Amino acid sequence: MEERFKKKEAKNWLKCISAAYTTTDVIAQLADLGFKAFYTHIRTDMRAKHGILETTTCSSCSDVFQQCSLCSNIGNRIWGNHRFKQARPLKGPSWSNTDSKKWCTDSWELAKCYMPPTGYKDKTSAATTDFNGIIGAMYNCAWMQKYFTDDLSKNTNICTQVFDKLSINVYLSVI
Ligand SMILES: [Zn+2]
Repeated sequence: MEERFKKKEAKNWLKCISAAYTTTDVIAQLADLGFKAFYTHIRTDMRAKHGILETTTCSSCSDVFQQCSLCSNIGNRIWGNHRFKQARPLKGPSWSNTDSKKWCTDSWELAKCYMPPTGYKDKTSAATTDFNGIIGAMYNCAWMQKYFTDDLSKNTNICTQVFDKLSINVYLSVI
């Protein structure tokens, strides 16, 4: 190892970087499980309210504004769970990120609706999505509150503190 990497300060930096990677990995796993559970929740709700069985799936609706009743039911629930769905100017799900043909088979396509609208269209899994995208999805999807002890509906919370530290403006990032 290069001599300067052996110094205490350098070692501390490396520990920080290692901790950041580990944190990202853990949050990625949590988000992966969380959005799988979110899809299951959506389908359970659709069966209870509309009698649409989980075995009924669709893989042909590519336009989120022109969908069959199954996909529009899923889309309505994605919108309904968006933390900033009522905010103005234009907020709510980042429809441009998602491939709605995969909504019934890949829950990460649901997660992408809650990420910033640029830079995430080609991210096919939690493992390939960066920290900002993952934490943005967990925050913007109000259903994920169950995985946090902090009250995310408050103006200052654990997620907004992370965004502040990373200099991310979540309000701008969801426009
Ligand atoms: Zn459909």
